[in-house]
Amino acid sequence: MSLISIVVPCYNEEEVLPLFYEEIQKIMEQMRQEHSHLTFELLFIDDGSKDKTLSILREMALKDSRVRYISFSRNFGKEAGMFAGLENATGDYVVVMDADLQHPPAFLPKMYNYVKDGEFDCATTRRVSRKGESKIRSAFARTFYKIMNKISQTEIVDGAQDFRFMTRQMVDSILSMKEYNRFSKGIFSWVGFKTQYIEYENVERAAGTTAWSFWGLFRYSLEGIFAFSTAPLALASLLGVISCLIAFVMCIVIIIKTLAFGDPVAGFPTIMCVMFFLGGLQLFCTGILGQYLSKTYLECKHRPVYLMRENEEIYRSRQDS
Ligand code: UDP
Ligand code: MG
Repeated sequence: MSLISIVVPCYNEEEVLPLFYEEIQKIMEQMRQEHSHLTFELLFIDDGSKDKTLSILREMALKDSRVRYISFSRNFGKEAGMFAGLENATGDYVVVMDADLQHPPAFLPKMYNYVKDGEFDCATTRRVSRKGESKIRSAFARTFYKIMNKISQTEIVDGAQDFRFMTRQMVDSILSMKEYNRFSKGIFSWVGFKTQYIEYENVERAAGTTAWSFWGLFRYSLEGIFAFSTAPLALASLLGVISCLIAFVMCIVIIIKTLAFGDPVAGFPTIMCVMFFLGGLQLFCTGILGQYLSKTYLECKHRPVYLMRENEEIYRSRQDS
């Protein structure tokens, strides 16, 4: 017998959850028919949803013994949701996928075929188009992947997603990374292992709206850079060296000019410009230092990545008593 755990982070997904459940049931049935030794577990993570997500999950868990859920005490973000899912999944294989059907369940049989013989440790999808996404968003995303791959040793594949079919070994490796600032795209790649990419066209959300604003994504991309690269620190030093060199050349020019032409009244505007420029540069570099310091600060506190408020066991025992 092999158990496949399907981890699904949900934040305000009342509209798509029933659709998702219906789809995934069909696929689980299909896979069971093809491979009779497979059993399934659905582990939903309610990330502090403000709509009826939790009550839908409760109902599903009462009716279907394969359904488990963890409900957070507040919204901790998708990263925390995925971590909680991986930590609590008991399967020999673990799948992470979105609830909005943007990660089509129909891929699961194919993904299982890749990992079942041990040829690959992970199967994942890579979207080759960003159909249905705004032009600016796609342009920023592309630039982010370009910069990231230049400055970080960890390769982050453009279009790769958090839709993953992983072996227990890979999941345990991911869980061994205890960091608080979790950037999964980097973590999945950092742990290594053999990954098979399946390419597909972007699918739009089945219902509901995305929880990601443009600025949210922008901040998330900065998180990624600070978590998986120290290049900004090097950039700060480089800028320092360059401005020193410029100052040195300027000194020589001024000395020669003074010797040759005497010393006319010095230019006040020039001094102001240089002062502002250097002041700005210094603040910029201090800011970069500050970013790393703040990440280090959060890591030192050893706060839990998420806090659970309720799960299906707690709910069932409350119903019984
Ligand atoms: N999600 C979550 N916590 C959050 C935001 C999102 O668990 O704070 C979940 C959400 O329910 C969905 C998945 O993460 O299952 C992807 O979110 P979304 O579809 O909003 O992002 P997009 O597909 O636009 O990147
Ligand atoms: Mg989505």
